[in-house]
Amino acid sequence: MSSADSKVVYRTCSLCEACCGLAIRVESGHVTEVRPDEDDVFSHGYVCPKGIAMGEIQEDPDRVRKPLRRTPSGDFEEISWDEAMATVAERLAAVQSKYGHDAVGVYYGNPIIHNHGALSLRKALLDVLKTHNVFSAGSQDTSPRFATSYYLFGGSLVTPVADLDRATYFLCIGANPLVSNGSALTAPNMRARLRAIQERGGKVVVVDPRRTETARFADEHVAIRPGGDAAFLLAMVRVLVDRGLLDDDFIAASTTGWDDVSRRIADLDVAAASELCGVDSATIERLAVELVEADAGVAYSRVGTCNNRYGTLASYATDLLNIVAGRLGRVGGWMFPTPAFDSTLITRMPGSDGHARWHSRVRGLPETLGDLPAACLAEEIETEGAGQIRAMLTFAGNPILSTPNGRRLAAAFESLEFMVSIDLYVNETTRYADIILPSAWTLKDDHVDLLVAAFAVRDFARWSPPVLELEDGERSDWQILLDLIKRLGGGPSGRPVVDSILGVAERFGYEFNPTKLAGYLLRLGPHGDRFMPWSDGLNLDKLKAAPHGIDLGPLRPGLARLQHRDGRVRLAPEPIMKAFDELMVELRSSSPTDEVLLIGRRELRTCNSWIHNAPSMVSGRERCLLYVHPEDAERAGVADGAEARLESKVHSGAVRVHVTDEMRPGVVSLPHGWGHATAAPWQSIAGARPGVSANDWTDDQDVELVVGQSILNGVPVRLNAMH
Ligand code: SF4
Repeated sequence: MSSADSKVVYRTCSLCEACCGLAIRVESGHVTEVRPDEDDVFSHGYVCPKGIAMGEIQEDPDRVRKPLRRTPSGDFEEISWDEAMATVAERLAAVQSKYGHDAVGVYYGNPIIHNHGALSLRKALLDVLKTHNVFSAGSQDTSPRFATSYYLFGGSLVTPVADLDRATYFLCIGANPLVSNGSALTAPNMRARLRAIQERGGKVVVVDPRRTETARFADEHVAIRPGGDAAFLLAMVRVLVDRGLLDDDFIAASTTGWDDVSRRIADLDVAAASELCGVDSATIERLAVELVEADAGVAYSRVGTCNNRYGTLASYATDLLNIVAGRLGRVGGWMFPTPAFDSTLITRMPGSDGHARWHSRVRGLPETLGDLPAACLAEEIETEGAGQIRAMLTFAGNPILSTPNGRRLAAAFESLEFMVSIDLYVNETTRYADIILPSAWTLKDDHVDLLVAAFAVRDFARWSPPVLELEDGERSDWQILLDLIKRLGGGPSGRPVVDSILGVAERFGYEFNPTKLAGYLLRLGPHGDRFMPWSDGLNLDKLKAAPHGIDLGPLRPGLARLQHRDGRVRLAPEPIMKAFDELMVELRSSSPTDEVLLIGRRELRTCNSWIHNAPSMVSGRERCLLYVHPEDAERAGVADGAEARLESKVHSGAVRVHVTDEMRPGVVSLPHGWGHATAAPWQSIAGARPGVSANDWTDDQDVELVVGQSILNGVPVRLNAMH
């Protein structure tokens, strides 16, 4: 269907890391159809159901469209932008003037990584607030990856990815890319990419406590015990050492610290590791040999390996395995992308990157890339004393559903003196806000892949125009943030010299615009024109003339992206070696638990916690179910489809059970991002099928050893029939 004012806009989907190209039809100012962009240079016509649902989210009648103020009854009333912004600036400033800078806490949700406008103003906002109490969704899934990259390669965003399109052996641990569409691995159409490995005569192996969608597709599934990944991976390294299968030349030429590591590896007993991880020694040995003897083998691990006690050690062990097997920087192996918009140009600036530069006040947990672990947010609000958080700003985040012990955090939010949320919805978290500032959302802004292209399996560049125009009374995320920064006395970049230049420019009519900043990154980046008119490098004008994007070719071999001055990988960073030593103690002393362990689960139609109000995302069968192995169900006396009582250290509540042999015995799985009952008054679709929040059962006091990441996998629970 089309009409005179109908047009199709080609656009990157910004819901997840896969960066699929969409063709969005707009008629009379409304999205009427979302289809795959068959000509997109990166996704070649692939999309998932979430991308198709972007129109539903855009047109959702339950979305907040005007600033809201909470009333004494707990409902909300509309107010003007001016009144809302003035109130927010005044209340935040008042809290800081009374209690100090750290009295304002900030929480960023996952969508900021797909939002170049908000990302470019993150530092400016934090510079004007001058608070150390900054939290983000990254400490639920990615801080171990950032810290590992920071220590090994010199930058948190200098992260190798599996060169899937040329690999012939893919060992996938704690990840379900057929459903997640890749994490720290930007790769649309994972099914086709994995099938291509098999068609090249290669092999796909999935290591996961559940026979996931990816595991069912793979050539082999290994059902590991939750939390055993680091032991499993380090035991594989031990096998390579014992069999003389190391790439000694690469280790000697390109790394430092191997002596420290090899001493520890020599002490690691494969049989003890096997007992801890629940994978027999023969399988560990066979997989290690297969990986190294394949023409192009690569190991990849993600979220499932990160959010347990040894999360950073598991990320490190994945890198270590690839490195000693000689797969780092090699075609078909563990390779560094060369992104067009080079976000490392920002993280290389003094003070922008690091780990443990400051610690949380109450428990002393370290920051990673500027964020404290969200597991300590509730105690920072509750615990009296200097530095106590008295006011919060949340940006596109729902920490009550996505961080551990969400019920405790909800009570903490209720005690705040002031809270402001920049968000599309009144949700389980923003319902505690005094003021909600609604963004016009991504389709009314242009888009560049500023951050996630740093994880792409092929280099590419795209600029997407706005799909719809901003209407009167609507504001982009970055416009809201910029207004707030200015009202709080800051400038748009957070750097005094740059801000004074921008201030002069503004007086001559040049408005700050984040896309212009992104354009500078593009021109200064590895594919850019360096501002030379005769260069055939990239600039924004060239991207704008290529609506389906520009392909920049396969990943480049080598280690040119390394940021350590000596150009070598540092294999023995002290914080990670300490975690290694703790694992060695556990391997020598303890026997594995026989408790039932709770793990999370990713659903294809779930984008963390926030798209369940789109009808197509919740239609069909019930999905918020506890998966239980038949043996565990029988022991607990629960039947398929029945309700059961699930108990952990912090919560006891009812769950609906699905009995399935895809679970490893002794492991149960609940998807995250559900639990919408308290948002039901404002989200009619999500509220009608609320499910339960997995983070009601997770414990904010149990954290990972190096970065303090939340432990969301391997949580001890008890399962009983309802009485
Ligand atoms: S896979 Fe991710 S980027 Fe692609 S359509 Fe789905 S949500 Fe969008």
